[in-house]
Amino acid sequence: MAWMSGGRSNTELISNMMRNGLLTSQRVIEAMNKVDRANYVKSGTRPYDDSPASIGFGATISAPHMHAHAAENLLPYLNPGAKVLDIGSGSGYTCAIFHHLVSPQGEAQGKVIGIDHIPQLVNWSVENLKKDGLTEPLNNGNIAMITGDGRLGNAEHAPYDVIHVGAAAPVLPEALIAQLNSPGRMFIPVGTYSQEIVQVDKDSAGKVTEQRLFGVRYVPLTDREAQSP
Ligand code: SAH
Repeated sequence: MAWMSGGRSNTELISNMMRNGLLTSQRVIEAMNKVDRANYVKSGTRPYDDSPASIGFGATISAPHMHAHAAENLLPYLNPGAKVLDIGSGSGYTCAIFHHLVSPQGEAQGKVIGIDHIPQLVNWSVENLKKDGLTEPLNNGNIAMITGDGRLGNAEHAPYDVIHVGAAAPVLPEALIAQLNSPGRMFIPVGTYSQEIVQVDKDSAGKVTEQRLFGVRYVPLTDREAQSP
């Protein structure tokens, strides 16, 4: 039903996703309503279609229903004050959604760290977040956008309550599991030709479990040189 959820406005896109059962959690609905997808796509793209779109440099902003799935899956750990690592942050869209969930006004303030290995995309994502009203969290460090190899995570700010990976890893990166908090959850597409979302949970005793959720098609988590232009 994904293709039927597009709308003429951000509000309409979200209510169509709700009508089609692709978005059910009130907290995620509120967060997605605060993030205007038009601020995170290239000009000439229809921002409120429920479909992926090219953002240049071989990268793609995922379809809104995929972002909804990811946020709903990670929601038990996206509480006020939580720390989030968003790998392959691309347009910055998912960082904005996570920010509204972990740093709601008047409550404990969390932190979202976005990492992408294409510096031009990192700069563009900062501009997008500013257009979307998030200059203050960028200035006070509640959101930080970093250029780097996401396969290594970001040890400086570890451990993370949530790790979201927006590009498909050939195998589950051990460094990322190590940087997950106890308890914490990672949502990561894994595979090359055939990919699936793997949910990795670390419990409060540090025990790690993996669950395969559903098949997907993501841009690969790869070397910068290998990413098709
Ligand atoms: N969540 C983003 C997805 C962008 S597509 C969005 O919806 O906008 C996947 C992103 O992963 C691309 O921006 C690509 O540059 C990035 N990427 C791929 N391999 C990477 C790596 N090794 N380290 C960091 N980023 C990587």
